[in-house]
Amino acid sequence: MKTWCNCCGSTEWGDMNTRKGVRCVRCNSLERTRVIKLLLDQFDVPKPGMRVLHFAPERSLFQALIHGGQVEYDPVDFQPENFDFCKVRKIDLCTDAEKFPSEHYDV
Ligand SMILES: [Zn+2]
Repeated sequence: MKTWCNCCGSTEWGDMNTRKGVRCVRCNSLERTRVIKLLLDQFDVPKPGMRVLHFAPERSLFQALIHGGQVEYDPVDFQPENFDFCKVRKIDLCTDAEKFPSEHYDV
């Protein structure tokens, strides 16, 4: 049975350290990212106009989460300099978590 990546459609798999055939060679997604994509698809989110907060944004989920620019996408991380595919806002969850507005984000 041929398996395919639900993030990008690739059917080619590479290793991740000692785990064989778990990393998509095209988008570098791992199982956890593909499970998130499954859930996004199953719940049909995000929808246009939604507000999306993305911690440690995965490149392989970026296109699905920006939804063609029809959402308010807010990628955040403790080390925003590690991301080159979108502008990531610096967040330290130890000090900044309470600054997130209550009931603001949809996803
Ligand atoms: Zn992929």
